[in-house]
Amino acid sequence: MELIFLGTGAMVPTKERNHSSLLIKCGKEGILLDCGEGTQRQFKEAEESATRITKILISHWHGDHVLGLPGLLQTLSASEYAKKEEPLEIYGPKGIKKKITQMLEAFPFDNKLKLTIKEVDKGTFIENEDIEVEAFSLEHAIPCIGFQIRETDKRRIDVAAIKKIGIPDGPLLGMLQKNKTITFNGKKISPKKTTYVVQGKIVGVITDTGQCKNCLKIAEGADILICEATYMEKEVEKAEQYKHLTIKQAALIAHTANVQKLILNHFSQRYKEKAEQEQEAKDVFHNVTLAYDGMRITV
Ligand SMILES: [Zn+2]
Ligand SMILES: [Zn+2]
Repeated sequence: MELIFLGTGAMVPTKERNHSSLLIKCGKEGILLDCGEGTQRQFKEAEESATRITKILISHWHGDHVLGLPGLLQTLSASEYAKKEEPLEIYGPKGIKKKITQMLEAFPFDNKLKLTIKEVDKGTFIENEDIEVEAFSLEHAIPCIGFQIRETDKRRIDVAAIKKIGIPDGPLLGMLQKNKTITFNGKKISPKKTTYVVQGKIVGVITDTGQCKNCLKIAEGADILICEATYMEKEVEKAEQYKHLTIKQAALIAHTANVQKLILNHFSQRYKEKAEQEQEAKDVFHNVTLAYDGMRITV
């Protein structure tokens, strides 16, 4: 799984930080999580193609998370992408169907895209051979969801065991990999002794929210936790008022859930001192990185 941070700013974009968006590549899936203003250009900057997108997840309908959506859809509709058999799936919280319909009316273009739009509030809503995605409702000014994205576990061939038995490359190995017992030279060979399971990685994404129980649920078992950290602790009242997290609160979530690594993003434009922000996080949770536009992480 590869994470590409296309935009890491909050309400007001800056020279360094674009509005929110994150591209998650996993197998044949290309998941775009939020699509703030300027996301199309961020794809170009990152040398990624928007035609890689298979699904769009919208956390909530605040401008800094969706203002790039009409432009992106218009471009995709005018490209070869629109000829794809599979629809472009868009998922978001309650009310998103109406919002997207209104948006397409407000910015009319010859829409050739096959779109499926689904409203989700909780539970696993994507489950396939590459990935599983679960939604969790968060505490924000409007309906907002966070996500846990789980790579599907993969069964791999134990090369040493196979060599010992002498099974040649070919369909028999494929069957073992599908967890099926095979017969080779008159003997039954079980996948238990010839394969092993690689556990899929888990990425939690806490989007805009005040402190709530579901923050911990998203973080549970995560190899990587991506968390909004709009404010610093010195402005905790503002964070509470606007239902956002401080850097310290985000770091406490990572600490309590004992995640492997924390990546902070969605920073207010008011802070210029990156070192000070980093210190606030490190005082609570050591393995932390402040995301920047164009940052790539292989999980
Ligand atoms: Zn936001
Ligand atoms: Zn918001």
